Amino acid sequence: MDPNGLSKSRINALANGHAPAAASERLQIINDEKKFTPELGAQIERWGLRDAGFGYNIVAVFGSQSTGKSTLLNRLFGTTFDVMDETQRQQTTKGIWMCRGKEMNVMVMDVEGTDGRERGEDQDFERKSALFSLASSEVLIINLWEHQVGLYQGANMGLLKTVFEVNLGLFGKNATDGRTLLLFVIRDHIGQTPLANLQATLTADLNRIWESLSKPQELQDRKLADYFDLAFTALPHKVLAADKFESEVVALRSRFVNKDAPGFLFKPAYHKRIPADGVAFYMEGIWEQVQTNKDLDLPTQQELLAQFRCDEISTVALAEFTEQTKSQRRPVEAGRVVDGLGAMMRAWRTDALTRYDRDASRYHAGVYQRKRTDLLAALDASLSPLFLGQLKNLHKTCLVTFKSEMLNGLRGEGYNFGEVVFAARGRCLGRFETAAKEALVEGTDWVWEDELNSLAEEVRGVADQCRRDETKKMVNHIERNFKKQISEPVDLALNKAAPDMWDDILRAFRQTLGKAEAAYLAKATSFDCTDEENGSSLAALRRRAWQALRAKIDEQTADQVILGKLRGHFEERFRYDETGVPRVWKPEDDIDSAFKKAKDETLDLIPLYSNIQPVDSALEYSMPDDAQSQVGDTEEFDFSATLVIFSETKGLELSQKFRREADAHYVEAKRSTVASIAQ
Ligand code: GDP
Ligand code: MG
Repeated sequence: MDPNGLSKSRINALANGHAPAAASERLQIINDEKKFTPELGAQIERWGLRDAGFGYNIVAVFGSQSTGKSTLLNRLFGTTFDVMDETQRQQTTKGIWMCRGKEMNVMVMDVEGTDGRERGEDQDFERKSALFSLASSEVLIINLWEHQVGLYQGANMGLLKTVFEVNLGLFGKNATDGRTLLLFVIRDHIGQTPLANLQATLTADLNRIWESLSKPQELQDRKLADYFDLAFTALPHKVLAADKFESEVVALRSRFVNKDAPGFLFKPAYHKRIPADGVAFYMEGIWEQVQTNKDLDLPTQQELLAQFRCDEISTVALAEFTEQTKSQRRPVEAGRVVDGLGAMMRAWRTDALTRYDRDASRYHAGVYQRKRTDLLAALDASLSPLFLGQLKNLHKTCLVTFKSEMLNGLRGEGYNFGEVVFAARGRCLGRFETAAKEALVEGTDWVWEDELNSLAEEVRGVADQCRRDETKKMVNHIERNFKKQISEPVDLALNKAAPDMWDDILRAFRQTLGKAEAAYLAKATSFDCTDEENGSSLAALRRRAWQALRAKIDEQTADQVILGKLRGHFEERFRYDETGVPRVWKPEDDIDSAFKKAKDETLDLIPLYSNIQPVDSALEYSMPDDAQSQVGDTEEFDFSATLVIFSETKGLELSQKFRREADAHYVEAKRSTVASIAQ
């Protein structure tokens, strides 16, 4: 490139006075130093052929120097190859030039300097350019003068031997894969010898050459016709029969241009199946192999080409895809649930594959498929974190929604706990499943079920916690009711201070507890609790009911309260007579006996109060084991200890206190008689 950004070929085109239109640009693809141009890819694009797929043709020409090859090509294809200036008679430089056919999708190669043999030069370039042309061209024009026909030792025949040899190397085993048309154009045909005769001579020569080739053992039986189609045409003398020459050229041209013309030359069977966007890379690879004298096996070349191109196409598709995915990567990473993420992912993925397929499917099928699998893996690997992120975010938001729905559902009164849980749970898991399925991309091995299971697990955990809270709330409520209900019977019984007072209390306890248990069970059915949970709730209820009973009894047997009860009991017997009238002691009354009787009867109450001991042993209550071992409100719970209201020591202490009070009454009673005597 020069500083103005013009390619060499463009400068050439300008310098030669051709129109600067890209279509007529010409490029030396191999120079006289046998270097391959780095510009062919760009040039094919400038020619507008890059996206032609298989919709293009390649033709090359072979023949001795100055046999009018360039002239012919320019006439046939509207190309701009250099034609030797008659006045200067210069040797054209060696190399291969390429032009685009005018208004046709044809790449035309003009191979210069192919008659080193005649000039006594080495035949290296001849051989290499033959290889190169055969590997890429559909039609190889062999250009020769009429008078060269039949000159078996002539330059052309040497060249053909090269072409055949080279072809065996290229397409040896797969004859049918690489058919090429050899089009013999006989120049300056005078007309004395009919074309048919010339054709017969040439064909015989060709077969003789073919026979003389030393073929590998396994290809001994191959015929010339296994590899080549042959076509022959003749052109009149360009100067001596100028008009005829021009009209014949036009006729020949139409066989290249017009698919329906009889003898159409670009038959599909000759196409080398290199997509237009891979031609530059392919040709460069071929030339490199040719240059280093490596075995040129075309299937390998086509595979190499396919690998290179499919990689390139895949890279482009992946880059565009990555660009598209960027928009949603951040929101997902930030914890957002992206609406319609699945649809987007599927579209990006399909886009990338469509792009890849459009350009890569023309290449070697195996390579194309392999690279497609790689691309797909890359696409899916790139999408997978989005999918997993979406699931994680879904999980979180669904759980949050579930919690708040639970909270709302359990507000106020009159709800059915089980129904609230069932509905919220169904909505939560349903929401997750719908969104997770949406995010799924067909053809991947992605799963959302694991995440759903873990969500379900957490939902269950939250529901369980709510249920435990609810149960506790309910048990507390029942306990409060229990306390209210047990209070009065206990008061009454303990005030009665009769031997069967514990029977009354235990009877009331059993009855009230029975009601509480029934209340629990009535409500618990909606909680969907397990039997075990119900068992432990009921055990807790029993234990707390018992503790409530004990608390009530303790309240009624506190020192001052029990002393009050004893005092009352005593006074009732000592200070009042059988009819409830206050006694006025007279000197003759037996105060001592009355005092003793009332005191002893009252003291007898202390052991009665000290233990929960019904007269009817059937009423004896014993706490079930599970209620005792229940871990909860308090750690240790020794039921049998709760049957003791106060110890012997405590009993003695109470009797002492009571005795003191009673003695005071006795003294007072005595005094009152003394006082009445004194009056
Ligand atoms: P190339 O070297 O094979 O590419 O030959 P060129 O196309 O450069 O032509 C070489 C010379 O032959 C030029 O002076 C042409 O004018 C002349 N020429 C081209 N075509 C013919 C032809 O059909 N017959 C004759 N006699 N001369 C031709
Ligand atoms: Mg030429």
